[in-house]
Amino acid sequence: MAFDFDGTLAPLGPRPQFVDMRPVTRKRLLALARKFPVAVITGRAVSDIRQWTREFPLYSVVGNHGIEIDGNAKGARRYRTQVDGWLKPLAQRLQSWPGVWIENKGYSLSLHFRASPHPKKARHQLKHVARGLPGVRVVPGKDVVNLVPDRSPHKGTAFCYLVRQSKATAAIFVGDDVTDESVFRNARVPGCQVVTIRIGRSIHSKAKYYLKTQKEIDQLLLVLLKEGD
Ligand SMILES: [Mg+2]
Repeated sequence: MAFDFDGTLAPLGPRPQFVDMRPVTRKRLLALARKFPVAVITGRAVSDIRQWTREFPLYSVVGNHGIEIDGNAKGARRYRTQVDGWLKPLAQRLQSWPGVWIENKGYSLSLHFRASPHPKKARHQLKHVARGLPGVRVVPGKDVVNLVPDRSPHKGTAFCYLVRQSKATAAIFVGDDVTDESVFRNARVPGCQVVTIRIGRSIHSKAKYYLKTQKEIDQLLLVLLKEGD
């Protein structure tokens, strides 16, 4: 069972460091992780997400949109060099943009614009600037533009890897954002029945099912827990 973190297990917050799961989500996820192989697949760095999930016996933590599996990344040096190369020109270009800041996650960058006085305009311009960088895959998100090295593994790659590795015959993935579509689109493993769920309905999503709100994750966790009885 794999879950995205921000907007899925935890409600979105003003800054990434202020985000946390509700106590009930935490309790149910902990119980679930004791029963089944549970993974978190996130855009954050693995070291970052470990702070929020320290007490959980997780099967795996995948970070940086699929690049980093439990703190290891194939092609790590190349990705880091690529990301480092983007930082300087971006910092120079964005220093005078109010409410916009860069989060460096080692193997990818997030450009946050939630605090911008003109978020729509900022999103548009950030995407434009990002696309001018060499070897970049631009993944838009909620109040964020993610910059990932092109031809690097995505969340879908990581999800299928975990399904095969765990020899699961049934698997579930829950996510809420554009980056999670790589799982919704690619979650096919022979011999495994995969259920995909999006937080929030979207006609553009390839997820099979949806929850109406992030809060409903608590009910879903309860249903999954009962399945194990
Ligand atoms: Mg999310």
